[in-house]
Amino acid sequence: MDSDCIFCKIVRGEVPSTKVYEDGDVVAFMDIGPVVKGHTLVIPKLHYDPLMNVPEDLLQKLILVVQKIAMAQVSGLKADGVNVTQANGELAGQVVPHVHFHVIPRYKGDKHSWSCKADKYDTIEEMGGYASRINAAMREL
Ligand code: 5GP
Ligand code: ZN
Repeated sequence: MDSDCIFCKIVRGEVPSTKVYEDGDVVAFMDIGPVVKGHTLVIPKLHYDPLMNVPEDLLQKLILVVQKIAMAQVSGLKADGVNVTQANGELAGQVVPHVHFHVIPRYKGDKHSWSCKADKYDTIEEMGGYASRINAAMREL
């Protein structure tokens, strides 16, 4: 637990939140600034950050809750689609440094715009070079 972390405070009940789901390891609660109404955050109860530091068994539990929330947004909120996003590091847009998954219901005509501009590789070899570096690093993990 991190005494200054806003999400740890939510887990401890020191900051109010509207919970959707809770078990021994995981909490899901409504994001206070929804990108689209119904936007839910899924977090571990223990303070881990970033994603790369989360133990495997806990990550499995988290992603299964993410999947259930997404399913419930479709069946319960009649979402037409769902975005699952997750940021690691300030540069990547992370504001709260306690690992969390955003589960965002999407609707035809909702106000959320997804503006990712695709870059491109100069050559197929350049792309292969990135793939090799990732693959080699994975073998070291
Ligand atoms: P990040 O930008 O770190 O990926 O996302 C942090 C999210 O936490 C934001 O969407 C923000 O609205 C939400 N958030 C920040 N503080 C609080 C809070 O006190 N309560 C709740 N429910 N959500 C929060
Ligand atoms: Zn925390």
